Amino acid sequence: MNLTDITTIKSLLETANTGFKKSLGQNFLINPAVPKKIAASLKRDGENPLNVLEIGPGIGALTVELSAVSDTVAAVEIDGSLLPVLKKTLADCPNVKVINADILKTDIWRLAEEEFGGEFSVCANLPYYITSPILMYLLEGDIKPREIIIMVQKEVAQRLCASPGSPEYGALTAAAAWFGECERLFAVSAGNFLPKPKVDSEVIRITPFKSPPYRVSSGETLRRVIRGAFARRRKTLVNSITSEFPNMNKERFVKILTAMGLPADIRGERLSVEQFAEMTLYIDGVIPL
Ligand code: SAM
Repeated sequence: MNLTDITTIKSLLETANTGFKKSLGQNFLINPAVPKKIAASLKRDGENPLNVLEIGPGIGALTVELSAVSDTVAAVEIDGSLLPVLKKTLADCPNVKVINADILKTDIWRLAEEEFGGEFSVCANLPYYITSPILMYLLEGDIKPREIIIMVQKEVAQRLCASPGSPEYGALTAAAAWFGECERLFAVSAGNFLPKPKVDSEVIRITPFKSPPYRVSSGETLRRVIRGAFARRRKTLVNSITSEFPNMNKERFVKILTAMGLPADIRGERLSVEQFAEMTLYIDGVIPL
């Protein structure tokens, strides 16, 4: 069965008495080359088993390709009406387990332990409406996936992988850069989906760091520094960051910048995550001024 064929997709949904749910970001792939290419991007780690968590299998177009390249697949789908479809389309994929759940309400680490008993990778054509919460959830957890290969909106890919100083660089970029390394793999235009979305997509790889790359005073201070630095983009860092630290005066921030060898009028968007991390050490007095 060709799961990217438009007639097949429509008839599978019709037989299950269901349709495309826009509210769940249901845009299904209709180009067979795309799910193959996404699955082929997963890296094996020597002799270790390749366990994959898929988020939102839909009717299973990517799932069958993941099944072919990996040892075990757990596919979490929120839409119960797709379960009879997946039962049919994944009948020849004994290494796939479909779980009917909302990924945002799932204890991913417990699921990984139960289904894989160890390391796992994440691979998904993500529903766009929950891209940021899913990413932060995956990256902030104590146990990190080996790698995360996801299709996201092109603009989100640009933001996630942006360099300091570029227009796309923002709080999401800095947060993601704290947790791992981001690479843009390939573009997928809107015409590759049914229904056709308004935006183009890109597949990206995030390789989470095993341990934090730089020293910080606390994760919470880092979060506040990043949030504050981008709170008012057109303002200088000193004027923007005080929104998150109302008890600290501007003079102290200027002193911190000077100690870090930075000009007092620098904007938040020019600082790397390493510099945000260093700033937390001054703010919390780990490095005295
Ligand atoms: N993997 C399929 C493909 O590539 O053609 C479908 C991808 S479609 C963009 C996103 C899928 O995620 C849909 O099947 C949707 O029902 C599912 N989904 C949406 N929100 C979800 C959630 N919170 N938890 C799990 N699955 C979700």
